[in-house]
Amino acid sequence: MIVDLRSDTVTRPTPAMREAMLQAPVGDDVYGEDPTVNELESFAARLFGVEAALFCASGTMTNQIAIRAQTQPNDEVICDRLSHIYLYEGGGLASNSLVSVRLLEGDRGRLTAAQVAAHINPDDIHFPITRLVSLENTVNKGGGVYYDLDEMRKIKEVCVAHGLKLHLDGARLFNAIVAQGSSPQDFGRLFDSLSVCLSKGLGCPVGSLLLGSHELIRKARRIRKVMGGGWRQAGMLAAAGLYALQNHVERLAEDHRRAKALGTLLQSHPDVQEVYPVETNIVIAQLRPPLKAHEWQHALKERGILISTFGERAIRMVTHLDIHDTHIDYVSEILPAFSIQKEHK
Ligand SMILES: *Cc1c(COP(=O)(O)O)cnc(C)c1O
Repeated sequence: MIVDLRSDTVTRPTPAMREAMLQAPVGDDVYGEDPTVNELESFAARLFGVEAALFCASGTMTNQIAIRAQTQPNDEVICDRLSHIYLYEGGGLASNSLVSVRLLEGDRGRLTAAQVAAHINPDDIHFPITRLVSLENTVNKGGGVYYDLDEMRKIKEVCVAHGLKLHLDGARLFNAIVAQGSSPQDFGRLFDSLSVCLSKGLGCPVGSLLLGSHELIRKARRIRKVMGGGWRQAGMLAAAGLYALQNHVERLAEDHRRAKALGTLLQSHPDVQEVYPVETNIVIAQLRPPLKAHEWQHALKERGILISTFGERAIRMVTHLDIHDTHIDYVSEILPAFSIQKEHK
């Protein structure tokens, strides 16, 4: 058996999703004529209670476009030091938007309103102009934790008071929505721009959505074209997105239940020093020194269990659409009987 817990991006489209893709009416989306892309964009906009949406190739692309559309060169973006936009987008903020970044240290990637307020630059020619705040929810590098909605509302108040735009990197926003019982509109109301991945827990082969006002999406469509992201008969991919939004959201609760089971297994493991509290579908554990994450990864791979490393001593496991109870049962058999500590004696 192979149990692939590296990421929720490894899912393959289900037979029903493939059928929806096959049946999709298509047209040329650069001409605005793909009916399925148009349907996905209007469906998503309604779901979030915002004016418009834009279907793009990746979450990196939707984040980068959102930041480009809402900043000027030399502006500053406030985000947490664990942010995907800072760590994992190849420095794109520097080249795509020519902006600087104010990195803050939040609670496993979550900022507070007070922190944001304390780092807005004064109107002084020495400083870049603070223009945008970017939050991530759930926080990937924070172990899949999500924000308290009241704190987000307070951050929004700070942004309004200082004329700042507020962006949400919601690659795994639906995991937060299902885990905390919030709704897409709760987030649509608060953010000037939202980026949501379809290709992670929702199980699509490709795609992310950018959501916001008509004005934002009009600008975003232009920037996407400049980046080479205008696409033609993308309706087959959009059909997967529509199918996922209609059928794969509630089942995320199963991923969360299975992630908690993995967290419990790790907690009692002799090689493990600490497991981050499991709130959604991501489990991060720190190994006991001198054990190394890549050694654990290698030893588990030989037993058919694939995981990610997250630094020298941290490992990550992610549950998703293609992880079933039989996979968790298999991991429960293997893990307790497995340790790399002897090899270190
Ligand atoms: C995966 C991810 C993205 C976007 O990733 P792509 O691979 O470009 O789709 C953005 N933000 C976070 C937090 C992510 O986990």
